[in-house]
Amino acid sequence: MEIEILRMDDSQARFCLSGPSQAFANAFRRAMIGEVPTLAIEDVRIYDNTSALFDEMLAHRLGLIPIKTEPGLYVPQDKCSCGGEGCDRCGVAFTLSVEGPGMVYSRDLIPQDPRAVPAVDTIPIVKLGKDQKVVLEARAVLNCGRVHAKWQPTTACGFKNYPVITVSNRCDGCGRCVDECPRSILEVRNGRVTVIENRLEECSLCRLCEKACMSTGIGEEPAITITSEKSRFIFVVEGDGSLPVGDIITGALKYLKDQSDELRAQVSELSGVTGDEEESD
Ligand code: SF4
Ligand code: SF4
Ligand SMILES: [Zn+2]
Repeated sequence: MEIEILRMDDSQARFCLSGPSQAFANAFRRAMIGEVPTLAIEDVRIYDNTSALFDEMLAHRLGLIPIKTEPGLYVPQDKCSCGGEGCDRCGVAFTLSVEGPGMVYSRDLIPQDPRAVPAVDTIPIVKLGKDQKVVLEARAVLNCGRVHAKWQPTTACGFKNYPVITVSNRCDGCGRCVDECPRSILEVRNGRVTVIENRLEECSLCRLCEKACMSTGIGEEPAITITSEKSRFIFVVEGDGSLPVGDIITGALKYLKDQSDELRAQVSELSGVTGDEEESD
C-alpha cells in the first residue's frame, strides 16, 4: 500500500492511496472520522444564565466547540487511574464569565491548561442583551467520534476511486463534452478531446461527458468513456482544528493496525486452543 500526499497543511489534506481494497479505504475513512480521540466539552455547571438560550442549548453549543488536543497528553476517562472521577490527566476544566451587552465567543472560555484552548477564537456562543450574563464552569474530556459527533476531528472526510478517462479515435473533436464538464477538465486539442494537464484528479466521475457525446448522435457507444481504478483512491480530509490533519491520518492508521494486531492475536489464540484440543483428542 502506498500513500502519495498531493496537498497537506494543518487543516486540509488531499492524498492518493494505492493498493488496498475498497473495504479498507472505507475502514480508513471511518477510522479518521470516528476513532481518533479529541477533547470536547462534556460536563457544564451553570451558575448564572440570564441569556435568551436555555441551559441545555448553551451546553450543547459549548460541546460543539473544537478544542485543541495534543496527542498523548490525555487519556480517556474510563481508562484513567482516577477511576473515572475526573482529574488533570483525563480532562480539562474551563471557566466562562461574561456580562452583556455583547456576543459571547469561544475565546471567552478560559482553560485551566493553556494547551487545550478552543481551536477557533471567534465561534459565537450566545448574544447577551443589557444586564444579561452567563457564568459557568465546563469540563472537556477525551473521546471518539463514534460515541458522539462532537468528538469527530474531521469536518469533511471522503474518498473517490481514481478516474480513468479513455477517448477512442471515433472522437471528431466537436467539443460538446468539453462544454458539459462541470469541472472544466477537458479540452479539444489537435481535433480530439483530451484531459487538461494535471486536471485528471478533479474528475468527479459524473459521466456527463459520456451523455453529451451520446447526444451528438455518435451511435450506441460514446467516444469518451469514464471508468475508475478499483484499488486506487483520492482522499480529501478537512480537520476542525482540534488536531492537525497529519495527526488524524496517523491516528487512524494506528487504530487500524492495533485492531488488526488484536484480531490476529485472538485468532492465533483460538487456533492454538483448537490445536491443543485436537492433539488431546
Ligand atoms: S465524468 Fe464528469 S467531471 Fe469527469 S470528465 Fe466527464 S463530465 Fe468532467
Ligand atoms: S462529445 Fe464525443 S465526439 Fe465530441 S469531442 Fe467529446 S468525445 Fe469527442
Ligand atoms: Zn482521570
